[in-house]
Amino acid sequence: MANLKQKLSPRVLQDLKKRSFAGIFIYTVALCVVVFADGYYFRHPVFSNRFIALITGICLFRLIHRLVEPRVPSRLETVNTIVFLAGLVLTALIWGIWSAAFMAQPGEMNIQLLMVICTIGICSGGCAAYSPSLPLSLAFNFSILWPGIFIFFRIENPPLAILFTIFSAYMALMSIRMNTEYRTALENEALLKEKTKDLEKLSNMDGLTGLYNRRYFDMAFEVGWQTAARNKTRLALIICDIDYFKRVNDEFGHLAGDEYLRTIARNLNRIFKRQTDIVARFGGEEFVILVSNARKGRSAYLAETFRQQMSDTRLQFESHTIRATVSLGLAEMIPGSGQDRGILIARADAMLYEAKNKGRNRVVVYQS
Ligand code: GH3
Ligand code: MG
Ligand code: MG
Repeated sequence: MANLKQKLSPRVLQDLKKRSFAGIFIYTVALCVVVFADGYYFRHPVFSNRFIALITGICLFRLIHRLVEPRVPSRLETVNTIVFLAGLVLTALIWGIWSAAFMAQPGEMNIQLLMVICTIGICSGGCAAYSPSLPLSLAFNFSILWPGIFIFFRIENPPLAILFTIFSAYMALMSIRMNTEYRTALENEALLKEKTKDLEKLSNMDGLTGLYNRRYFDMAFEVGWQTAARNKTRLALIICDIDYFKRVNDEFGHLAGDEYLRTIARNLNRIFKRQTDIVARFGGEEFVILVSNARKGRSAYLAETFRQQMSDTRLQFESHTIRATVSLGLAEMIPGSGQDRGILIARADAMLYEAKNKGRNRVVVYQS
């Protein structure tokens, strides 16, 4: 049973169900066309009625199962799958046995030719439709053709027996090929999904620091703003800029500057670590932090902790010890309805400007 579950992944099962739907109707229609052609039905009413009743019965059962199945509780999923698969194989087996008996009747050459065409047609369609599962495709092939092969050999009709044997082998090979192609397509689809996810992630990230980039921040800020406005919760925005960063680059080189930017990112992530905190690289050496739903004063405390930590940091790069400080501007508010989020950025930015003017290495909080 575990093997059945493993091989028939939900996706494969879903495909099989979709692909098997048309078959429910094709059997009944094809049989009626054959049986009612050329007066056959009136020559063999009992046999015809039984054949029609069996095929209609199993098809009706499959149709009802298909309608009921979505309402079956998930704990009965395995039973559901077994009923579905048994329905498919049973239909093929009924068709295989009865069509073989049909073709064994003497003196019905014309109608039997129709039946051979129908059986081979249904077999081709079924093998292709069930190719997502190789065992099912093969079981279908053997159920529908082998009763005929057996009977044709017994009634000594070698041409039909050989024809069915060759056709069965050919369809088995085709099933193997179609199954391989289906699995490859499925793997490619999964790979594409994974790559798309990776790309989506990459497009939101800053390559140097691993923080979110400005593009992502803008989106997250919009969502955060709307949520805070709706829930009447506090939103804090902090803008951080490295003091005299140009000097770091000039004195120790660009690579040292890059390493310092990474150090900043690591410290920001350590301090603003709630899942709802958005830490992003805003521009060259500017960072922005969005803190949602924080109580008053909490963001200022975290900003101050970060400033202190950066001021205490001595970054060893090659033979140099790099020391720098940061300035931060902070503004917080509960967004009013109809208010533009740009106001929060403008306030935090003004506070950063003030921090720089007041001598740097400090946090300035907007006072309303
Ligand atoms: P202030 O205290 O006024 O902010 O002085 P500052 O030197 O930090 O300001 P300024 O804006 O003049 O310089 C910013 C510097 O940041 C200039 C630029 O070379 C550097 N920078 C921007 N992006 C990067 C980067 O990705 N890597 C490195 N190493 N440096 C960067
Ligand atoms: Mg700057
Ligand atoms: Mg700077």
